[in-house]
Amino acid sequence: MERYFSENVECASREEITKIQSEKLVAQVKHVYDNVPYYRKKMEEKGVTPDDIKGIEDLHKLPFICKDDLKDAYPYGFLGVPKSEVSKIHSTSGTTGKRVIAYYTKEDEDIWYECCARALTAAGATKEDVVQVAYGYGLFTGASGVDGGAHAIGAMTVPMSSGNTDRQITFMRDLGSTILCCTPSYAAYIGETIAEMGIKPEELTLKSGVFGAEPWTEAMRKEIEASLGIKAYDIYGLTELGGPGVSYECYEQKGMHINEDHYIAEIINPETGEVLPDGEKGELVFTSLDKKGFPMLRYRTKDICVLNKTKCSCGRTFVRMAKPMGRSDDMMIIRGVNVFPSQIETVLLQEGYKPNYRIEVDRKNNTDTLDIYVELNSEKFSDTVKGLEIQEKSLAGAIKTMLGINPKVHLVPEKSIARSEGKAVRIVDKRKLID
Ligand code: ADP
Ligand code: ZN
Repeated sequence: MERYFSENVECASREEITKIQSEKLVAQVKHVYDNVPYYRKKMEEKGVTPDDIKGIEDLHKLPFICKDDLKDAYPYGFLGVPKSEVSKIHSTSGTTGKRVIAYYTKEDEDIWYECCARALTAAGATKEDVVQVAYGYGLFTGASGVDGGAHAIGAMTVPMSSGNTDRQITFMRDLGSTILCCTPSYAAYIGETIAEMGIKPEELTLKSGVFGAEPWTEAMRKEIEASLGIKAYDIYGLTELGGPGVSYECYEQKGMHINEDHYIAEIINPETGEVLPDGEKGELVFTSLDKKGFPMLRYRTKDICVLNKTKCSCGRTFVRMAKPMGRSDDMMIIRGVNVFPSQIETVLLQEGYKPNYRIEVDRKNNTDTLDIYVELNSEKFSDTVKGLEIQEKSLAGAIKTMLGINPKVHLVPEKSIARSEGKAVRIVDKRKLID
């Protein structure tokens, strides 16, 4: 049995998981109360003390932590240990504009790498593999986490970092990389470049990929799997909770198993904060049970998704989270309708276009406008203006069926939309510039 398939916990009964979580929660609340004055104050305001928390059934009594709290307490307000105990820091990529700095003790690091090692193991990694890490190294958590996980497994780890795509492909071929780790948008770009170079997926030794750090659709998964000749696994995480490895997919690819011996997940109504019953869609909230350097109790992620507690056919009992649709921050309200970029991406790929697109939202004469720029696909190429217009109208119609609102589609030349080597930025909301 693989070292990082921890069957005793990953397949434990619900009672056993609850017991582990309850014991750790009681200790973690005390740790935070004693060491993080900012959160102690929040507990006092809510009239809760560590004595009120006897197990996970009391979790709902604790106050939430939001991104704004982290901003208020920046930089050291949520540090849970003396600075001399900190071995590492990371920072959010600032996708939503607000940077967060997270701190790790040596033990926090080891637990994080263990979580990533479980994710890689679930994607088929063993000591025999060559793991190419093409997430950006540096402040961003993506590379460090999977690098640490691959080291823990003892796999040969190739620290490429992101970018320099030709060199990625050269190393991939020369070293015989078997597992690729990067953002899904970068994986798609690497796949596209391989095709352009005339290399067939079967000429590569890749068998799987572990892709995360941004939302991606099932359609995108199929595209990547075909272009690289691999099985593509999803991995989820966020800086506030350590980074990637909070949850990961198994070969069933039906939701990401949350490392429940280290995290408790809740789904809440984002408007009211009320905890929602199993199976309902809402905002994900996480409590980290072990992290001492930057301990998060009831951290609101803004990610919208659904949890599934049924046992997976892979044998794991850890609860599964659906692919997040995107964060509530990414949700655009256009003419009163909620729109996620992932919905548009699904239609584009279904209609045979590549995942290279840009969404522009603006407001003209008090009406929201939605413009979608999509690259022409050489297979669907039409060389007449009339032909182009027909294609644009047909794609706009398909998107309207999905969203309920009419976009304006612009087919633009191939390669005219910038490719992403990290997290893709797909939305330009010009309305926000005016607000
Ligand atoms: P930033 O908030 O600056 O992007 P992070 O790197 O910490 O910094 O980003 C974490 C966020 O990235 C998550 O809250 C989530 O919105 C998104 N994310 C991470 N992994 C995935 C995934 N597998 N699927 C969808 N979204 C993801
Ligand atoms: Zn599973």
